[in-house]
Amino acid sequence: MFNKATIAAFGQRETPFFYYDLTLLQATLDRALAAAENYGFHVHYALKANFNERILQCIQKAGLGADCVSGNEVLKAVQTGFDVKKIVFAGVGKSDKEILIGLEHDIFCFNVESVQELEVIGKLAKEHGKVAKIALRINPNVDAQTHQYITTGLDENKFGIKTWELADCLEIIKKYDSLEFIGLHFHVGSQIVDLNVFKSLCVKVNEFNNWFDERGYRLKVLNVGGGLGVNYVDPDKEPIVDFAGYFEIFNQFLERKGNQEVHFELGRALVSQCGSLVSRVLYVKRGLKKHFLVLDAGMTELMRPALYQAYHKIEHLSTNAVKDAEGIKVTYDVVGPICESTDCFGKEVELPEVNRGDLIAIRTAGAYGEVMASRYNLRNEIRYVYDDEITP
Ligand SMILES: *Cc1c(COP(=O)(O)O)cnc(C)c1O
Repeated sequence: MFNKATIAAFGQRETPFFYYDLTLLQATLDRALAAAENYGFHVHYALKANFNERILQCIQKAGLGADCVSGNEVLKAVQTGFDVKKIVFAGVGKSDKEILIGLEHDIFCFNVESVQELEVIGKLAKEHGKVAKIALRINPNVDAQTHQYITTGLDENKFGIKTWELADCLEIIKKYDSLEFIGLHFHVGSQIVDLNVFKSLCVKVNEFNNWFDERGYRLKVLNVGGGLGVNYVDPDKEPIVDFAGYFEIFNQFLERKGNQEVHFELGRALVSQCGSLVSRVLYVKRGLKKHFLVLDAGMTELMRPALYQAYHKIEHLSTNAVKDAEGIKVTYDVVGPICESTDCFGKEVELPEVNRGDLIAIRTAGAYGEVMASRYNLRNEIRYVYDDEITP
């Protein structure tokens, strides 16, 4: 991903910064949309993965919808120019104010996460003379086979409506003319690499689709969420995930009734590989048992390793790749400067011998990176660099 010219251009810049390869992003979007189009599937982008201005613009221009999880994300999507007819709003704790933002902009759909929320949306819509289009986010009790902190579709998780609450939902829907029931929504977790999980999801969606159909609700939309995982171990081997294989599973296992639409909400799979966190080595600390590379980036820039023990590939950016490849290797713990022991990007990482001032890239950082940055330790605001700023 990093050629000599890019690395040379990095040389003069203040670190740390996120480097975004918008060319790769565009190629990823093209591939995803082409694969989805084969089956007439609709793709939304989950803004929470990365709402960097230029990334959002690229995605909006490509014609994707927007999947939002806060009122501010809805506003951001509207401001960026996303078609309101393609904006959906999920989230387990929407405030009245946030619901009103959605109503005011006549968004495509509220993905409703509880019986209680359904009642509130019905009431608020009625008071404001609006009709809220809603989908029920059902918790299908499917194990996403991913890290426990990013699993969302089990009974024990806070997300979605439980199966036994669906009848109550129908009562509320009948009660309010201000609610238009248009679909079912599911999202079972993130960084799902075992595609069998999506097969299981399809089976569950079919069951629920039948259940509603038998009760006279032929729903317009089946929204199966996102969660498609990416290759963190070897990003260069798989810079773009196998969208064709992913969509094919839904085409094969999801039973659409009549002209039901199938909607997806992808975050990570669209933006993670286009981003890297570029950082400089401040100190090489030699210990008795191990050596430490102390970087000028930390958990304040990329929190995933500290938050859920996430693995990111760590790369030495050298203008002499041959020397790097052939020279001796040293094992380092790669850590940040923040006053927390969890501020560690990787343990026992094999790298070429590294010196103070060298550049390090932490790969696959485009999703859930910049958006989770914090000012803890009164750190600087995050900086970023785009590929078209450094390559003519
Ligand atoms: C986070 C989220 C997504 C996107 O998840 P990815 O794993 O990034 O694809 C989709 N839908 C909902 C409701 C979400 O909360």
